[in-house]
Amino acid sequence: MTASHVLPNSSDRVLSTLNSDGSRRWLRPRLSPGRFVYARRILAWALIAIFTLLPFLRVGHAPAVLLDIAKRQFTLFGKTFLPTDTVLLAVLLVGIVVTVFLITAVLGRVWCGWACPQTVYLEFVYRPIERFFEGPPGRGGTLGRKASGARTAAKLLVYLLVSMGLAHTFLSYFVGVQNLRLWMTQSPVDHPTSFAIMAATTGLMFFDFTWFREQTCIVACPYGRLQAVLLDANSLIVSYDPKRGEPRGHGRGAHVKPIVENVVPAERAAKGDCIDCGLCVETCPTGIDIREGLRMECIGCAQCIDACDSVMAKVDRPAGLIRYSSQLRILGERGRVARPRLFVYAGVLVVIAVVFSVLVSQAKDTDVTLLRGMGVPFTELANGEIANPARLKITNRGHLPRSYRVEISGGAPARIVLDEKSVTVQPTASVTRGLLIVVPAASFVMGKHEVRLRISDDQRSSTEVAYRLLGPYSVGPIAKEKAGASQ
Ligand code: SF4
Ligand code: SF4
Repeated sequence: MTASHVLPNSSDRVLSTLNSDGSRRWLRPRLSPGRFVYARRILAWALIAIFTLLPFLRVGHAPAVLLDIAKRQFTLFGKTFLPTDTVLLAVLLVGIVVTVFLITAVLGRVWCGWACPQTVYLEFVYRPIERFFEGPPGRGGTLGRKASGARTAAKLLVYLLVSMGLAHTFLSYFVGVQNLRLWMTQSPVDHPTSFAIMAATTGLMFFDFTWFREQTCIVACPYGRLQAVLLDANSLIVSYDPKRGEPRGHGRGAHVKPIVENVVPAERAAKGDCIDCGLCVETCPTGIDIREGLRMECIGCAQCIDACDSVMAKVDRPAGLIRYSSQLRILGERGRVARPRLFVYAGVLVVIAVVFSVLVSQAKDTDVTLLRGMGVPFTELANGEIANPARLKITNRGHLPRSYRVEISGGAPARIVLDEKSVTVQPTASVTRGLLIVVPAASFVMGKHEVRLRISDDQRSSTEVAYRLLGPYSVGPIAKEKAGASQ
């Protein structure tokens, strides 16, 4: 029996994972050893190691990566972005989007097939576990071994444990490893919300990798939907060579090798190189037939290349009937690597990189905002001086607590009235203090007077802010009285 007899007819299906009667078509892709699967396995384990270890790494006093959604603060390689860094974050996000556009236009779905966590964990963690308990799949995606309740239960238990570990790693990116360690060593009763989040994340991982699987790529992932606009005829894709492969059929194979060298039997000459063995379909993790042309479901994993190359080796034909190519080159036309859209993407990326670097280099460790105080803009004190109430907001962007001193800059005849000698601000936190800025009444010209405040910290850095004081247009009665007394 040939594979094509075993495999369900693709015309009976709505999606590659859904039959026309609405039932799920379960995929058990065959493992196809080859150069791409080996390379992907090495990359996958390197990525898993990076993903697992990254939350533990620190850059200076900050975690390498921490996406603290509760506080609306993102730390990336020691640099913390606060909610006020809207421009910086917007530039970063636009940069990421344009990078995705550029990579997809050049390398197609290389992210999906080689680096996406969904593919990496499904193909190199969960499927190997499945094969360990159920054996390699048989032809047509049937179970390798006879189904057994005990084996299925053991497999699901291992899935659950792996999902739990994965959920903890995932959450550590959002809450930090210290918090996670605390949660893990305390009773769930002490932190029910955190426990519920962890349990829900584990449940989602378990659901995704046990049941939903390739449907995440086929029906849920928005990036997959965008392929039609991101790819062009020159983008790198996994393609079947119809000129070489068609007409497909069983007339080619080791059994029809030439009897006399260079004399090709008519049966063989009439056929293309594809022997219609169906291995490329059986190995496909999204269940598609690459011979039908470029499909949105193709994640570019190259498993069908490995499968077909092994078949070509057996039938004594050159490898590459399925290969990385582009829509143009596979049809024998001249493709172009350099295209206008790539220059546009690259140009935009350079601009974004420059803007981002300038913004980051100008960002200080301390943000200071001086706002006018509530109520009356100024009051005349008993000694004739004018006091302006103000609110000082200090944001410590660093990762160590800092103490700030506030003083008048430049020796101007003014003083600050603040309850504390110095203001201590915790890392990535802000404090607001009310203060009075007091100056002699004679300092005002047309009711205004400019001062500069210097806010210096215990790390020897300082920030200056200018502030316009409001005061009387003419010297007030108390000041006049004082001035008269002194004459
Ligand atoms: S694996 Fe190669 S030879 Fe076999 S059906 Fe697919 S394209 Fe044809
Ligand atoms: S068609 Fe080939 S490259 Fe595309 S998803 Fe299937 S196996 Fe991977």
